[in-house]
Amino acid sequence: MNKEEKDSTKCPICGRPTHKESKYCIFHASAEEKTVKEFKKALKEYIQEINEEDKDYDFERFVFIGDIIFEEDLNVTILKNAFFKDASFEGNAGFWNTTFQGVAVFREATFKGFAVFRMATFEGESDFEGATFKRSAVFREATFKGFAVFRKATFEGESDFEGATFKRFAVFRMATFWGKTEFRKATFGRCADLEDSIFQKEANFTRTIFQGYANFKRAIFNGFANFLESKFYSGGNFKKSSFKGDTNIEVNLDYYGDLKQPKTVFSTGTDFKKFRFYKDFPITLNLKPADDSQIKYRKKIVDLENQVNDLLKTLQIKSSQKAAFKEELEEINKKWEILNNNKKIVDLSNKICEIGGNKLFKSTKFRNLFEREKCFAAVLAIDIRRSTEIMLKAKSPKKYAYFISSLCVKMMDIIKTNFGVVDKFTGDGVLAFFPEFYTGPDAIYFALNSAKKCNNYFKKHYDNCRTSFSTILKEVGLGIGIDYGETSLVEINDVLTVVGIPVVYACRLSNANLGEILLNQSAYEVSIVKHKKCCQYNESELNIKHEGKITVYKLEKYIFPRDIIYPEWIKKWINIF
Ligand SMILES: [Zn+2]
Repeated sequence: MNKEEKDSTKCPICGRPTHKESKYCIFHASAEEKTVKEFKKALKEYIQEINEEDKDYDFERFVFIGDIIFEEDLNVTILKNAFFKDASFEGNAGFWNTTFQGVAVFREATFKGFAVFRMATFEGESDFEGATFKRSAVFREATFKGFAVFRKATFEGESDFEGATFKRFAVFRMATFWGKTEFRKATFGRCADLEDSIFQKEANFTRTIFQGYANFKRAIFNGFANFLESKFYSGGNFKKSSFKGDTNIEVNLDYYGDLKQPKTVFSTGTDFKKFRFYKDFPITLNLKPADDSQIKYRKKIVDLENQVNDLLKTLQIKSSQKAAFKEELEEINKKWEILNNNKKIVDLSNKICEIGGNKLFKSTKFRNLFEREKCFAAVLAIDIRRSTEIMLKAKSPKKYAYFISSLCVKMMDIIKTNFGVVDKFTGDGVLAFFPEFYTGPDAIYFALNSAKKCNNYFKKHYDNCRTSFSTILKEVGLGIGIDYGETSLVEINDVLTVVGIPVVYACRLSNANLGEILLNQSAYEVSIVKHKKCCQYNESELNIKHEGKITVYKLEKYIFPRDIIYPEWIKKWINIF
């Protein structure tokens, strides 16, 4: 004899008295066994009891009937530790403007009507793992301050996350979106994990900001995938993801992510400006693979990510186990911090030469070199002149994409091996700086050497790519500007970048004529002080918007100085350069 039969007046789930003919209480009885009126009355009483006794909002396995709007029906706008695990909402569920303090657990919950979480704030962790949304799910402008877990969730209707903010890890791994999905203007402050997710209809990521790593590994886009003006600040993974429908992509990704993947569909750091790839996707770009230690490091990051995911998965978020939950959460947070720091190093390592990059992972002292606010540096700005005309002569967008990205990868390579730090890849150019603390006292020469080599390479590369164009333009080339002076290193969205007056002038000078290398006054002075014989300049002028004409120095002849001083940290490796 089981317990149920022994005590048939109590609900087998919660021990409350059974309701009418049901063997369950009013909350756990099925929709057919109760009326909306009596259910809402009981619910109101229960909420009063919660408020009076300061209990958790425990709605586990509740069967909500009728439309429930927490604010209007129940006068609830703040839910402290809400447990809706396995609950089912037979009608519409309205949680707009609701603040969830503590945890919000909707694991395996079923929403048969609309689920409206518009402008809701989740102050702690939110868990929608395995939840089913039968109709529209509206999370528009919601704020998730803790981890947001939608792992294996099923959105059968439309899902709307427009303008939502995810401050921490957002996990949509293995989620299925059957209806149109809207992530327009959403911000993922940390990692966005959409691995193995499926989008059956349109997926709109227009102007979505991915500040952390964006993981779309093996994601399937069966409908229109719209990534127009979305920004990927910390790289991502599109390995083996498939785009079966149309795509609209402005690939302006300052993206140093997984370059090694043969099936990567997004290129790296390329700016295709409003280009539309209609079923001309994926682009496979011939990019240089990351070196071994970086691959190892990335693996470590993936491991950490998986650990964080596993921890989240194994959490049994029940009121009785809250203490244990807290501990595990702290562990996750600790791991998360490590993960995030590691990503910063990986990002920096992709901007400098291989040996430097590897050294970053091994030496704290070396890493600390970059922990400064101000530094003297040579700044190099390269602009591909007439890139629009080149683009218009390309036989296909894909061919142009290949031309530009392989060119920029090679130029970045030249800069890195000259001990420069690649700051940005702008789509039609590259910005780099050569800080004295890293490049050494002869930073200006490494900048000049890079400029010269990039100029030579451009010619060769354009010639090699002739078959990609319908017309070969005679008047093409780079414009290169160099300035020297005090710059500031700042972190924008966890990414190290250089700002300051020399950056502004280097960029303006890159407006130079085809093939010209122009130096501003201070860069010119620095370069003639030590190795006067190595360079020859012609004084010239450049017209600058709002400033009028300025004097510039055009590099005519350049020989790499024999007595150059290499950076301190590279000395034992010097013979390989
Ligand atoms: Zn019950």
